[in-house]
Amino acid sequence: MPRLTRRAFTDLGLWMQALGLGIGVAFPFLLIPLGVPSQFTLRPAFFAACIGAGLLLGAANYALARRVIGLRVVQVSRQMRYVEAVIAQAGYSGDWGVCTPASCHLPVDSADELGEVAASFNGLVTALSTSHEMHRAMSETNRALSEHLELAEFAHTTLRSFLTSGQAQAGAFCVVRDGHLDVLANARLQVAGLSEHPAVLAALSDSAPVQLEVPPGLVVEAVAVSFRPAAVALLPIHFRKIPLGVVVLAFSESPSADTMRILDGFRMPTGVALNNSLAHERFQQLAAVDSLTGAYNRRFGLGRLEEEWARSIRTGAPLGVLAFDLDHFKAVNDTYGHLAGDRVLRETTAAARLALREGDVLVRTGGEEFIVVLPGAGLADVRAVGERIRRNIADLTFAAGQGSLEITVSLGGTTLGDCAAESTQELLGAVDEAMYTSKRNGRNQLTMAAQSMSAAHV
Ligand code: GH3
Ligand code: MG
Ligand code: MG
Repeated sequence: MPRLTRRAFTDLGLWMQALGLGIGVAFPFLLIPLGVPSQFTLRPAFFAACIGAGLLLGAANYALARRVIGLRVVQVSRQMRYVEAVIAQAGYSGDWGVCTPASCHLPVDSADELGEVAASFNGLVTALSTSHEMHRAMSETNRALSEHLELAEFAHTTLRSFLTSGQAQAGAFCVVRDGHLDVLANARLQVAGLSEHPAVLAALSDSAPVQLEVPPGLVVEAVAVSFRPAAVALLPIHFRKIPLGVVVLAFSESPSADTMRILDGFRMPTGVALNNSLAHERFQQLAAVDSLTGAYNRRFGLGRLEEEWARSIRTGAPLGVLAFDLDHFKAVNDTYGHLAGDRVLRETTAAARLALREGDVLVRTGGEEFIVVLPGAGLADVRAVGERIRRNIADLTFAAGQGSLEITVSLGGTTLGDCAAESTQELLGAVDEAMYTSKRNGRNQLTMAAQSMSAAHV
């Protein structure tokens, strides 16, 4: 339809008047074939009446269209202006919570083009709000990812971001370390053997998120009750195509495609940050740990002793220290070779570690010499731990040549309160002296420094 003016309703009015005029002119002629005498229909007064009626009908049609359609269009445009203001405000404040379907959507109550306009507008508002939500979640996650380098904290913070953005009720973050998958963070997910679950292991090398059948035995621990989730998603985390981990999320309702898209978008930055965090952990370990035995190295270990010493002085908490040295170790090397000696060193360190609690610090101070820093340990604890180490090592047997080999250690122990040392050097001097007393007294025994003066042994 050609445009007559710049106003659609004015165009409509003009077309209706033209139509009314046309009908008014044609009507008298149309009556003739129907038997109305032409001297009656072709009278100017009848023409004028028909044209007048046609124009009147055109005008009435125009008025009705304005009322029926125009009012609805005005209503839609008013609502659009309101939504525009809400969106502008949300964009400014960052709070898109104000733009809910109830407040921002137009009613779709017309099964025609007008309804379609309203539906398209609502779609546009939803797309805008989703894209904004994605942007917000992305920057929040990026901030969380860059906040922590330390692996355990990183895993917890990242999992929290995934849970919040995905509106998931529970989840876990599994990370590949030393060749196998470890659960580094778990929020309310109760499931046995998650990191060995075939679906989780398979997802590790998948290139996209997977939604899977909820495995039997998987339960979400809620505030009051536990429940079975409706859906579980596995999000593989890669860095340059190298699988680094899997985020497992459990939902009480199946996540929408938009939610999955948001979570998918997190995978890449998470991969980069996880790679950094793993590299950080490796560097930390390289700097602190002795590569043969896995015990802390001398530099790091003595640093930890200084820290615990200062803490103990400050808080008055007890601090215990043990020193031990393998007995006749030179003979092991001389008889069975250096490699066998290395194996003995590794296994005795592992046996000693089994005697320790979380927080105790095992340090290889020299070739086959170790100290153990025992924060919070009093005299009786030091004695008990020392005895456990001695026994664990004495119980080991090594296949060597045709027969077997047994290894023992001599130990010295003391506590900060019992040896009157003024510095960590003096403390170490006291346990060393006690350890040499054990050697002198026949080896495979523990001597406490406070008693070493009288050469009595425990
Ligand atoms: P003692 O009961 O008096 O302690 O006797 P020992 O033979 O253990 O004493 P000594 O200190 O003379 O010997 C320590 C030996 O430990 C000497 C060295 O060859 C060996 N050693 C030190 N570091 C390593 C190591 O990393 N690997 C191996 N295989 N041997 C080591
Ligand atoms: Mg020795
Ligand atoms: Mg030695």
